Amino acid sequence: MSLDLPATLAKSTGCRDTPVLKERGQREVFCGLTGIIWLHRKMQDAFFLVVGSRTCAHLLQAAAGVMIFAEPRFGTAILEEKDLAGLADANAELDREVQRLLSRRPDIKQLFLVGSCPSEVIKLDLARAAERLSGLHSPHVRVYNYSGSGIETTFTQGEDACLAAMVPTLASTTARELLVVGALPDVVEDQCLALLSAMGIGPVRMLPARRSGDLPAVGANTVFALVQPFLNDTHAALTRRGATHIAAPFPFGEAGTTAWLRAVATEFGVDDATFDRVTAAPRARALKAIATQSAELVGKSVFFFPDSQLEIPLARFLTRECGMTAIEIGTPYLHDAIHGPDLDLIAKGPTISEGQDVEKQLDRQHAANPDLTVCGLGLANPLEAKGHTTKWAIELVFTPVHFYEQAGDLAGLFSRPLRRKALLQAGANA
Ligand code: SF4
Repeated sequence: MSLDLPATLAKSTGCRDTPVLKERGQREVFCGLTGIIWLHRKMQDAFFLVVGSRTCAHLLQAAAGVMIFAEPRFGTAILEEKDLAGLADANAELDREVQRLLSRRPDIKQLFLVGSCPSEVIKLDLARAAERLSGLHSPHVRVYNYSGSGIETTFTQGEDACLAAMVPTLASTTARELLVVGALPDVVEDQCLALLSAMGIGPVRMLPARRSGDLPAVGANTVFALVQPFLNDTHAALTRRGATHIAAPFPFGEAGTTAWLRAVATEFGVDDATFDRVTAAPRARALKAIATQSAELVGKSVFFFPDSQLEIPLARFLTRECGMTAIEIGTPYLHDAIHGPDLDLIAKGPTISEGQDVEKQLDRQHAANPDLTVCGLGLANPLEAKGHTTKWAIELVFTPVHFYEQAGDLAGLFSRPLRRKALLQAGANA
């Protein structure tokens, strides 16, 4: 059995071997604490305690929008001036805050201490704090730590750091199991599990799991498939535990989803007839939905600034399934084992850039004058002010976009700004 791809997607036509423009200058990044917004919804007995400043607290509040939870599952232990000046024992204060939190919230089974710029500046050792607190509060609560600091991270790295922190603590197993890795909205996760189950693939475990009791075990017979392209450290941590990665394009759009499912199905020996029976109807729905949404995209050009780390699979989706032409595909990090299968499916032509030197990249974008620019929040408004049409990359992470049933919505996220611009222009010319 082989990957179900049109002949035009042959590897030799792809971008995997394209020389990469590596840039190491000024970067426009958005803080890694952002991942808490979707992770706390996913992990229903977890609490994310940012050890940070009032700025961190404000960022979380703003990113979380107006959601009001009776009992929120994230918060900030604010480092005051005396902590930052080294005049107080920040560890003792942290222990006290955690004790207070856990005695008030017996529903918390997993506590993540999340490092920030301020905690890193004062070199607060959260790894030791997590170990100490795990000792104090186990077996009821497991305490982890990771860094969400915005100094050197892109906003999706928070999830990677969180999942990578969990991997070494997962139980060992010799069972042959499929592990699907990356946070998906519950409704999308259910669709994914239903497709796998209909093909007879199982047992299937998820990381992250909705509840700590469902955490997967891992070992040399575990095979894992990523559903998010920003999980470099988690990929490395699982590989260190002996698990084997199923390399595949990411499940965006009809072709991406089919290729992802095909790679997993091949690993589990699913026959072609079963595969076709299970996927035929949702594939047809996805193709129809994409066709409806992509009318505005056909023949248009797109330029990606590096931001969400979704750029490469999305460029594959837009060029292969929506008729767009990519001019530059910028990504914060390029990881051959993770991004290679999507690069194989992008026709040669676009510049592939890794990292950023934002002024130079803005010059390239200006010269190319693309129809659509996908970028972070910080660049979108200035570019719109100059007449460019933009798409905020962060929306792609907050919106359900994976697998067949979301393929039309994914195309719609890109066609909407173009449609809006066309309407505005029509209004101005009327
Ligand atoms: S960039 Fe640093 S200080 Fe600002 S919110 Fe993020 S972690 Fe906190």
